[in-house]
Amino acid sequence: MLSEEDKFRYTRHLMLDEVGEAGQEKLMQSSVLIIGAGGLGSPNAFYLTAAGIGRIGLVDFDKVDLSNLQRQILHNMGDLDNFKVDSALQKLQNINDKTKFDIYKEKISASNILDLIAPYDFIIDATDNFAAKFLINDACILGSKPLAHSGIYKFCGQAMTILPKESACFACAFEAPPPKELNPIFKAGLFGVIPGVLGCIQASEAIKYFLNTGDLLLNTLLSVDLKHMIFRKIDIKRNPNCRICGENGIKKLIDY
Ligand SMILES: [Zn+2]
Repeated sequence: MLSEEDKFRYTRHLMLDEVGEAGQEKLMQSSVLIIGAGGLGSPNAFYLTAAGIGRIGLVDFDKVDLSNLQRQILHNMGDLDNFKVDSALQKLQNINDKTKFDIYKEKISASNILDLIAPYDFIIDATDNFAAKFLINDACILGSKPLAHSGIYKFCGQAMTILPKESACFACAFEAPPPKELNPIFKAGLFGVIPGVLGCIQASEAIKYFLNTGDLLLNTLLSVDLKHMIFRKIDIKRNPNCRICGENGIKKLIDY
């Protein structure tokens, strides 16, 4: 039951037929794990907290440095050298005192990821490297957790939502991570707004999933190019022989 205060806080949600009191209650009973408290994690955490998600987990082992502030809007000058999850927690608690937060100062790996995702209803991949993205995809398939993927590069980004065994997974779309020496992400610059746009798209997917409304990015890769303002949807087919979600998919996680 929504309190009078809840009804006021979420007035603009309640006015939407797609949300209403039942939808808002659903959001308040739902939980999301955000893996990464940086550029993509920031808008995800802000909007999911503001939307009233009941429980939010944040995973990040890294500390804030000055070069993060160009895009990682959860953090400010006063947070330098602090753990990103501590910095995030402080900001988020000030937005919504009803949301419960769990923070994990851990690096994800094949040995801890299934335990990390287990308590949550929806997983957000807000990481910055291919190895983590493949690991998260695999874990969500094994653990049957819906997942919002995103990746960013220079002025561009992509997003895709995965319902395990129902829609194409990340490995259906991209066979395997590129070799480390060819991984372009760390040598490339990054337009500061791009994680903002893609992170908002992921948060939107999570909220729509809970509300069971609209169209999710299932079997679809949304490709975003902010430099030329091109948004494209690319059809992705589920691969019956996918090495992860296919009939003979993997049964055990590996570290890439
Ligand atoms: Zn697959």
